[in-house]
Amino acid sequence: MPCASTSSSNGHHNLWKLIWHIPAPPKIKMFLWRLSNNAIATSLNLFNRKCAQSPVCQICFQERESTEHMLFRCSWTIPVWFACPLSLRPPSLDNYASVQSALMSKISLASKKIALGFLATFALTSWAIWKAKNANIFEDIPINPALTHKFKSSFFL
Ligand SMILES: [Zn+2]
Repeated sequence: MPCASTSSSNGHHNLWKLIWHIPAPPKIKMFLWRLSNNAIATSLNLFNRKCAQSPVCQICFQERESTEHMLFRCSWTIPVWFACPLSLRPPSLDNYASVQSALMSKISLASKKIALGFLATFALTSWAIWKAKNANIFEDIPINPALTHKFKSSFFL
């Protein structure tokens, strides 16, 4: 039996309920919720709120930094996702208009247990990417996909 409907309001509600039950710290759950609602401080979101001079990604300088770019399309994130035990690869995620639609699609036909495992891994991987990106921009720490994957995996120990 599917655990989440793909109809928008009901599915949205179910997604929130599932996120709340993933085996991860509360800050990771909140981060995933904010990701799925495009409510994180990417360059594009800050620019749209007139809080940044430019919407361009400060890592690659190739595209506007949307939530989807920050997570999946910035080239350094690709090896992080490839090291991830999910059937999630950047090209397939590119087919979705938003993080929320990608998550809804991936969990809509899954059992609750599988959906929770998927969301937890997705959340921790996304969190590791977010932390590494910010450490590069604000602390000048070089981006390293291998270390980012290792950092993510440490949550499971
Ligand atoms: Zn980029």
